[in-house]
Amino acid sequence: MKCTVCRGPAVIDVRRHNAAFCPEHFTLHCRDQVRRALHEHAMLRPIDRVLVAVSGGKDSLALWDLLAALDVDADGLHLRLGIGDYSEESTRAARAYATAHARTLHEVDLAGEVGFTVPAAAAATHRVPCSACGLSKRHLFNGFAVEHGYDVVATGHNLDDEAAVLLGNVLRWETEYLARQAPVLPAGAGFARKVKPLVRLGERELAAYCVIRRIDYQVEECPMAAGNRHLSYKELLNELEHRSPGTKGAFLAGFFERGRARFATDEPAVPLRRCVECGAPTPSEVCAFCRLRARVAERP
Ligand code: SF4
Ligand code: ZN
Repeated sequence: MKCTVCRGPAVIDVRRHNAAFCPEHFTLHCRDQVRRALHEHAMLRPIDRVLVAVSGGKDSLALWDLLAALDVDADGLHLRLGIGDYSEESTRAARAYATAHARTLHEVDLAGEVGFTVPAAAAATHRVPCSACGLSKRHLFNGFAVEHGYDVVATGHNLDDEAAVLLGNVLRWETEYLARQAPVLPAGAGFARKVKPLVRLGERELAAYCVIRRIDYQVEECPMAAGNRHLSYKELLNELEHRSPGTKGAFLAGFFERGRARFATDEPAVPLRRCVECGAPTPSEVCAFCRLRARVAERP
């Protein structure tokens, strides 16, 4: 296998681009995909202060690294979720990257600063852990950005993640979610802009990028992911991609280009006010995060 660009020995093929790359040209390919995503979706302005959501996994560390390569000087925020050894190792990887590259990494410890861990929240709500975890992440990343003057929160959602979410939304015709699924969510009162610069890169490419760049990341899957139905959607999409390379990318890109706008009117214009507990924007008196926190606190 030869590099499509220089004809040197290739280390990875990317079938949906009908290409193979040597380490150097693969790195450039990844940068180019992020540059294109930033440009196509007008994700960042030169004056923006950017906060990267850093879990310590391959996606978030690759994102931080790729943004730096494109001269986007972003700080990181890492949430310590309290998921046993998995969280310990994730925190170690996030800190190691920040130290090695002299980057600013903020941390929020859920147990110490919020009063619960993800496993405790899952037990209190009797729902899959990812639901309480996702709610907490959205709330805390946005709250931190707004409080500390960051204009943008960048997350490591990749092509596989977004295509799986899209498939789930389509299978149930969740038109409100389809209206909101976008590579950029604009800022609003109490909300920083949210951007997903990795929407053009798949999981396999991001893992390879980290290996080539010698980025040490948390390799284990989260032990609480079992029951997350997006895992089975990813498997189905991988099967389709295997049979017909390019299917996944076309599914997602086509939705962003031609599908999403058709659902725009399905997003209800709900008036927002400030949560009486924490001040976050919310349609109800107390925001969903503060209600979650109260439920966990009620448990004996
Ligand atoms: Fe949280 Fe679920 Fe991700 Fe684990 S898999 S970190 S519980 S969202
Ligand atoms: Zn609140």
